[in-house]
Amino acid sequence: MFKRCPSAEIDDEPCSSGVHDHLFLDADNAGAYGCEDHILKLLLRFPRGRVVGSPHDPGSGIRILKAASTARRNR
Ligand SMILES: [Zn+2]
Repeated sequence: MFKRCPSAEIDDEPCSSGVHDHLFLDADNAGAYGCEDHILKLLLRFPRGRVVGSPHDPGSGIRILKAASTARRNR
């Protein structure tokens, strides 16, 4: 649907490979689709947000959440 990961607007780092339809929702339910890396960054930036994993990548939502909690611990 989009050529570039929309979450990449936040920073210009290249997207990770894989699907780009993981969904990030902030506390107001405003959402952004993106690759796993960029959704993770959104989560770290907006701690009250949540993630809906890609329907094409089962388990991805949990994986991103775990990665976010690991990243927070390691800060
Ligand atoms: Zn991306």
